[in-house]
Amino acid sequence: MLTRRTLLAAAVPSALPPADLLIATLPDGKITKAHWLDSIDAVAQPGSLWKPFLAAAHRGPNVRFHCDGSQCWLNRKHGWLDMPGALAQSCNQWFHQLYKTLPKPLHLLALPDQESDDWPNWRTSPHILAKAYIELLARRTDYPLVIAGLRQAAEKGTAKPLGPNVLAKTGTGPSKLYAGDGWVFAATPADMPTKLVLYRQRGVTGAQAAQALAKLKLL
Ligand SMILES: [Zn+2]
Repeated sequence: MLTRRTLLAAAVPSALPPADLLIATLPDGKITKAHWLDSIDAVAQPGSLWKPFLAAAHRGPNVRFHCDGSQCWLNRKHGWLDMPGALAQSCNQWFHQLYKTLPKPLHLLALPDQESDDWPNWRTSPHILAKAYIELLARRTDYPLVIAGLRQAAEKGTAKPLGPNVLAKTGTGPSKLYAGDGWVFAATPADMPTKLVLYRQRGVTGAQAAQALAKLKLL
């Protein structure tokens, strides 16, 4: 028989673990905060946070690919996107098409080589990932299309809660305990970042993690 107590308990969503947070100052890359449940050196799967590095591995002018919605998180088409647009919308199908064009074996900027072609499930530690983003930002003049995409993501893409004057990327990584774990990379101010944040909230999407991060007013 359902009592008032069991009804109340059923109405409370299962509690999520506290968010994980890494903060570094730029351009020196000094880590000033590292609150990560299972250590910033433990291997994890940051999902779409790999995409800026795939984009940075592209040589040549801007490229456009078409997304018809299959193999994409949106479940409807993104249509034609260029590189900044694909990063802002985090279009999976665009990146599957880009990946096929990249030189193999693939060496990504400041990240360990991966053995499989299954890039959405690649693994690295939050510490190494943060250092790679620090390197990407240090060399941002070499990657104007990638930086434009990170800016668009915060202005009008999947990281929109973070708003203008921020560079950002969201990701929804595979999770052992939940449907997914939400990841966010963010740096501010956009033109010359002095602060980098890597954030993970288990049990939510990357876009929801960006909402939660925005509420912390760290950027
Ligand atoms: Zn798409």
